[in-house]
Order: sequence, then C-alpha cells, then structure tokens
Amino acid sequence: MSDWKPIIGLEVHAELMTQSKMFSACPVVDSVEAAPNTAVDPVSLGLPGTLPVINMQAVEYALMVGLALNCEIPPINQFARKSYFYPDLPKGYQISQYDRPLAINGYVDIDLADGGTKRIRVRRAHLEEDTGKLVHVMGGSLVDYNRAGVPLLEIVTEPDINSAEEAEAYARKLRAILQYLGVNNGDMSKGVLRVEANISVMHKDDAEYRTRTEVKNLNSIRSMYRSIEYEIERQSKAWESGEGVKQATMGWDEQKQKTVVQRYKERADEYRYFPEPDLPIVEISREWAEKMRVKLPELPEAKRQRFVEAFGLSAYEAGVLVMEQAIAHYYESVVAAGANPKAAASWILGGLFTIMNANSFAREDIEHTKISASQFAELVKLVSNGTINKGTATTVLTEMWESGADPAKIVQEKGLAQVSDSGLIGETIARILTENDKMVQDYLGGKDKLFGALVGMCMKALKGQGNPQVVTEMLKQQIEAKRR
Ligand code: ADP
Ligand code: MG
Repeated sequence: MSDWKPIIGLEVHAELMTQSKMFSACPVVDSVEAAPNTAVDPVSLGLPGTLPVINMQAVEYALMVGLALNCEIPPINQFARKSYFYPDLPKGYQISQYDRPLAINGYVDIDLADGGTKRIRVRRAHLEEDTGKLVHVMGGSLVDYNRAGVPLLEIVTEPDINSAEEAEAYARKLRAILQYLGVNNGDMSKGVLRVEANISVMHKDDAEYRTRTEVKNLNSIRSMYRSIEYEIERQSKAWESGEGVKQATMGWDEQKQKTVVQRYKERADEYRYFPEPDLPIVEISREWAEKMRVKLPELPEAKRQRFVEAFGLSAYEAGVLVMEQAIAHYYESVVAAGANPKAAASWILGGLFTIMNANSFAREDIEHTKISASQFAELVKLVSNGTINKGTATTVLTEMWESGADPAKIVQEKGLAQVSDSGLIGETIARILTENDKMVQDYLGGKDKLFGALVGMCMKALKGQGNPQVVTEMLKQQIEAKRR
C-alpha cells in the first residue's frame, strides 16, 4: 500500500457569530436549540421583491479570518449568485462569492508528530449565506429556515494534506484560530463548523493527481479522520484491483464506519455564477485591512510562544494547552491563582486529561467540571510544598472530580498528608528489611533491580503517603549499612 500517497484538500464552512444574518436584520439563533422557523424574515425566506443588504460585521469577521490565515486581501470583492434548486434554498440561488473572493493565497502551519511543522496553503476564503435545514421525519421532510442566510465563510485549502493526521492537525489549528478570533465557537456537533474532505491517492509513478471523492457533512474531527483513512484504503485497493475510482460525493456512515456514495459526478456542477446585481462591490481599503490586522487578538501560535517563554513549558506542552481555547484559559487561571506554571501544565496534561478522557468529557467543556481553576491551583501547591506526594495527588484529584471538594479538605478528612517523619519512615524500612532478608541478600549480591521492589514495599507499608525522596534515601542508607 505504500505505493499510494494520499492527497487531501479540505473545505471548511464556518458560520460567523454575528447578531444578524448576512443580508438582513433578521436575528441569528442557535439552530439546534431554537424552535423551527422562529428566526426568519422576508429576505432569508427569499420572498420576491426583497433586497439584501450586506452585514458589515460579517465582512469584518471574515477579514479578520483572512488576515489570521496569512491571506492576501484583494481590494475589491464581489458577491455572486450560485444557482441551484433545493428545498432548503428558497430563492433558488445562494449568494456567494466566485471570482472575487474576500481572501486568497494564505497558509496555516501545522505541527507534525515528528516535531516538525508543515505549511498547508489556503487557496481562498469566501463569504456566503448558509442554507436552511431539512429535517426528515416519518412520512416526509420538514424544512427549518432559521439557518437560511446566516453568514458563512468557506475556507478552502490547496491539496497539500497527505494524511489523516495532517488533516486533523489542520482542522484543530483552524478551529482554534476561529475561536481565538471570537468569530466561531467551533462546535462541530451543532454544525456551526463543518468540514468536507476531498480525497484521492497518487501512485508513486504518477505525474498528476487522480480522481478524487468528496466526503461531505463530517460533524466531528474524529469522523473526518476515520473517513479519510477509510477512503485512502478503499481507493488504493480499487486502483490495485483495476476497478478504479469514480468521482463521487460521499457521506460518512457513523454506524458502519464507512463512506457511502451519495451521487456520482459525471461532470462539474453547473451553477451559472454571475455577479449579484442587488449588491454593491465591497471595497477593502489597505487602511481598513491594516487597522484590522493590528486589532487581531493573540492567536494560538503567539500564545504558545508566550507559554514557552514565560512559563518554561516545552513546545509540545504549550501546543496542547493552546489548541483548545477553554483549556488555555483554564491553565492561565490556574497559574494566576499561584500554582507553579510548569507543575500546573503537567497536572492538566497528565492527571486532569486522563480523568476527562476516562469520563468522555470534552476538553472544551473544562469550565463545566466541578474543579475550579483556583481549586486546581491549590492541589498543585499541595504537591509543590510537600504536603502530599504525587500518588496521593492523583487520588485527591479523582475525589475532587467527583465531589468538587477543596483539595486541602480532602487531604485533612482522609488523613492523606505525606509522611516525611524520618522516625516513622526509618522504623518502617527497618521492619521491611528484616521481614525480607532474602531479597536484601540478593540485592547486595548484585540484583540491583530489587531496590525498586523494596521501595515499593516500604511505600505500601506507609499507605502510599511516604515522601518518596526521604524513603529512597533512608532505604539506601539502611541497606548499605548491611554490607559490612
Ligand atoms: P471544485 O472547483 O470542484 O470545488 P477545486 O479544484 O476547487 O474543485 O478543489 C476543491 C478542493 O479539492 C480543494 O480543497 C482542493 O485542494 C481539493 N482537491 C483538488 N484536487 C484534488 C485531488 N486530486 N485530490 C484531493 N483533493 C483535491
Ligand atoms: Mg466547494
């Protein structure tokens, strides 16, 4: 299979979190929570005689994204009609942008597993309006126009992505950038952010790209990842067997974990694009673009750099922390509450993430755990000042996760404070050594590995609460004393 190189291009649709829709004052609502057809007006319903008006807040948000993705911003952009019929598109055309998009020729640098980085080129980002939503029920389909006319930014890459891992890294980075800009909350489960993956494979002797398929409506990064892996495997086999790949629009079947053909594409879709006659051209002056560039908030890359420099984190640690805005915010609050930055990072990445994963708790929901940032900081401090050891801290953290209690209270009530009392530790070690004389003799005879086992036995006798450093040192002294 290594003869086949995956070629992937991603198209991401991001709704822009404006108050009102793209072309009217109609409010934007949560399209999952709100009752159907409660946020509609004559413009978003496409009634005859209505006229669209450009929402400049949406243009400004799109401009921010374009700048954050290192794009060129052409001075003139123009809306165009994309004609097609579908029940969720009441006008019979979608207002989009065609040959004069808002942003072109940008890039996103992604981190690779081997520690390197790779540049994924962004071909273009253009503004359009979202469509309504069909709801399929027993006996037919219903249509909800709440989403019709919501500002949507389509961001298209060049086919520079060569694996599912790279696609994931790109999608996560892009999502983080949109979150940091405050233009999209990244909630793929609600369809606020949607990904389409274009996938083909190239034989090592090929000079040109082969036929691609397009997997639509991926509503999580996980399904995007799986569908890409699946298509790479399926297409490589189809070429190997001589069957070949037909250009198709596909969907991802979550139950069966496979891609399914929705329709074959014999030729390019004909949308009959033409300039939207009801809207003016939008001019973006250099001054406006520069003013916006200066106003951009701290983006994930810059935050990561700051975490490395200010807090002494590794690039990897900082990278994971900044990738989800909610986590970055939590981390900064923990540090602000006085925890050692380096220790706080490793307790979040290690302890907390382990518990969150075990409970299928999404990282973006960190604010909804029972552990406040200041409680978390207290836990880190209890370890740093030697009140509890690391093993105990893991127990305390689990307890905090379940009850939301303060760590100091848990330590006190359960008597978990670390034992550093050399008298007690010394007696315990002496007893263990006497009880295990055979092991001691074997260790002294050259079986060095037994030392770890003896430390473990002493720690166990101290109910896991012994100060590991004190235990190790005293054990060494007592056992060496037996040499003579
Ligand atoms: P269309 O005009 O039909 O939308 P484009 O050529 O503009 O097609 O490409 C759409 C997306 O598909 C882009 O993200 C692009 O990078 C990607 N793409 C183009 N050719 C291939 C290919 N052979 N394999 C994988 N992805 C591709
Ligand atoms: Mg497209």
